[in-house]
Amino acid sequence: MASPAVTIVGGGASGALTAIHLLRLARASGTTVAVTLLDQGGRHALGQAYATTDPHHLLNTRADRMSALDDDPEHLLTWARAEGMPVDEAGYLPRAVYGRYLRDVLAAAENPPFRPLHRVTAAAVTLEGEHTVRLADGHRIESDAVVLALGNRSPAPVPGVAAHPRHVADPWAGGALSQIDDGAPVLVLGTGLTMVDVALTVTRAHPGTVVYALSRHALLPRPHLPRPATPVPVALPGGPLRVADLLAATRRAVRENGGDWHGVMEGLRPHAQTLWRRLGPDERRLFLRRVARYWEIHRHRIPPASVAAIAGLRASGRLRLLRGSLIGATPTAEGLSVRAELDGVATDLHVGWLVNATGPGADITSDPFLAGLVAAGTARPDPLRLGLDTGPDGAVLDAAGRPSERLFAVGPLLRGTLYETTAVPEIRAQAAALAPRLVEAAASVATRVA
Ligand SMILES: Cc1cc2nc3c(=O)[nH]c(=O)nc-3n(C[C@H](O)[C@H](O)[C@H](O)COP(=O)(O)OP(=O)(O)OC[C@H]3O[C@@H](n4cnc5c(N)ncnc54)[C@H](O)[C@@H]3O)c2cc1C
Repeated sequence: MASPAVTIVGGGASGALTAIHLLRLARASGTTVAVTLLDQGGRHALGQAYATTDPHHLLNTRADRMSALDDDPEHLLTWARAEGMPVDEAGYLPRAVYGRYLRDVLAAAENPPFRPLHRVTAAAVTLEGEHTVRLADGHRIESDAVVLALGNRSPAPVPGVAAHPRHVADPWAGGALSQIDDGAPVLVLGTGLTMVDVALTVTRAHPGTVVYALSRHALLPRPHLPRPATPVPVALPGGPLRVADLLAATRRAVRENGGDWHGVMEGLRPHAQTLWRRLGPDERRLFLRRVARYWEIHRHRIPPASVAAIAGLRASGRLRLLRGSLIGATPTAEGLSVRAELDGVATDLHVGWLVNATGPGADITSDPFLAGLVAAGTARPDPLRLGLDTGPDGAVLDAAGRPSERLFAVGPLLRGTLYETTAVPEIRAQAAALAPRLVEAAASVATRVA
């Protein structure tokens, strides 16, 4: 009988964490399983976040929360120390180091010939049925269960800005930032975590460059405290939750905590997925409209070293925050002329480069592979169109809302179902929960076929 086979489409952190948990479970339970990890860019275990080579791109999560293994919180710290890195549990490692760690953990989870891991570099173009992945070169990978780990979509196109060699439409595409090679001023659209990375990279590479960062509210991510705050519980009413109740309870908790929100955020964060589930569809929409941007800057914070670097750039005038919105951009001999409304006044800025750091695009049908799944009725977008519609366990729902027994999703694709689903602590928990489902699904199909 052939080994049960699982194919994971997307080899970034979500795909790698799924493979790691699956292979480790198979080893522990003496099960045979063949795992294929498919990544179109060959960035296995690195993906978008951990493929950076810039040592100033730090994790924005403390080292003691970034273990790859759900059942071994100390694992990253132990690995780093064995590699000769004197990392403190509340320290922030470079993301490139974290990528190396994920690669090592993935390699250690392999156990050929019983539990092999096939790393394939190719793009999946279609899924036939729920289990055969067709690749761009025409090859097909047959498996018993498939996991979709495609990560975030590229940022949505900016209205009023056409494609142009000096318009970096996706800062996370391989080599995107190295195009900015002449020290000309850079306008970054967005003032969040991606803007921080872009500003750090281009100002270090070009000591004369000025970076403008534009967003509607010009809100920067908040800093992490040097030591983590003690979680403060937030007392919420039972039953269906309203955004107004959530805000009132949060404000009350901050007041009772002497005005300090850090501990309140620590208290809320582990419950974010449950709270999202308790908000009904209309309340979720309201949350997205009114609260999400404030949630993001308080939830996704930056480490003290990045805070200091950003403060230094702002103090020297090399990073300038602009509040307003973009009207349009036209090419010039030196780059781009950008028209923006800044504090209500139409203003022209002449820059060498424009970087779209507005955050991941939500529309899954902008991805040809996912669009194909939707067109075939194998999957559908979630009601708020934040990702794929799934059960709480990641089982993909078909056009009629039936959960699949062989097709699952992990990571950012679950945003509509879970909301908080992009950080490693959430993704590794999904991977750990999914592993037994995959072993079971793959084994039962393989047995039926044999
Ligand atoms: C800049 C940045 C910093 C972050 N920092 C932290 C942090 O400090 N702590 C933390 O917990 N989280 C952090 N995160 C969040 C989190 O770790 C990432 O979002 C996570 O890496 C998501 O991984 P992923 O595998 O789902 O997506 P991705 O990393 O995007 O990987 C998906 C992969 O799938 C491939 N793919 C897509 N379509 C196909 C296809 N059709 N066929 C084949 N392959 C395909 C892509 O090429 C890509 O390599 C950060 C995220 C970013 C972007």
